[in-house]
Amino acid sequence: MPLELVTIPCLDDNYAFLIHNPQTGDTALIDAPEAAPIQAVLDARGWQLTDILLTHHHWDHVDGLPALRGSARVIGASADAHRLPDLDLAVAEGDEISACGENVRIIDVSGHTLGHIAFYLPHAGFAFTADSLMNMGCGRLFEGTPAQMWDTMQKLRKLPPETLVCSGHEYAASNVAFALTLEPDNTQVILRAEAIKAARNNGVFTVPSTLSEELSTNPYLRADDPALAAALGMTGADPVAVFTEIRARKDRF
Ligand code: ZN
Ligand code: FE
Repeated sequence: MPLELVTIPCLDDNYAFLIHNPQTGDTALIDAPEAAPIQAVLDARGWQLTDILLTHHHWDHVDGLPALRGSARVIGASADAHRLPDLDLAVAEGDEISACGENVRIIDVSGHTLGHIAFYLPHAGFAFTADSLMNMGCGRLFEGTPAQMWDTMQKLRKLPPETLVCSGHEYAASNVAFALTLEPDNTQVILRAEAIKAARNNGVFTVPSTLSEELSTNPYLRADDPALAAALGMTGADPVAVFTEIRARKDRF
């Protein structure tokens, strides 16, 4: 039986995720922006948390933890243990752990913060990327460099294209509006903008998206795409320079 995945809106525009294994009864939470909406889903389904996976230390990803942790095992980056809530298991790039009866691979996705990790479940095909790769976007560079985030994007785009990208915020509408300023004539981006607008008008979450959608339209994954470089007037430029320019324009958008 496949894992169940529940996307839970929290705060103004955050997402938390629950995964549940119907065979073992185990339930894992990915990020804890606030307790109440997450507890409401747990109560409604009769689930109890066995694991809590933290992507990074920002308050809007951890503040709900104290009220939720109970006897759950709390997992986060060893590099960030000093500024995360107390961890029961500290992990780093390349580690493979088991949660919810599934293998979970740790990917270092530094850029937004240093020590930001993603959780990839190869069997289920889920990648919990929080504020690294997002729907049509990537997180703002608070601590890392553009080169680091570009490195992160190159790691994530090697995952299977059918992977579900479970990111941390509902930012797609503004991200795709920005992407259109870069490539107003890109048909795939135009279609994506229409789909995102329709989803938001109907109150539908744009998260998760599929990696294949991101590969064809997300500008941050395409800094080495000659068509995007040309649209920026940067034909032949180094992908790091193109990525730096895209991120700088977004910060001014
Ligand atoms: Zn953050
Ligand atoms: Fe965030």
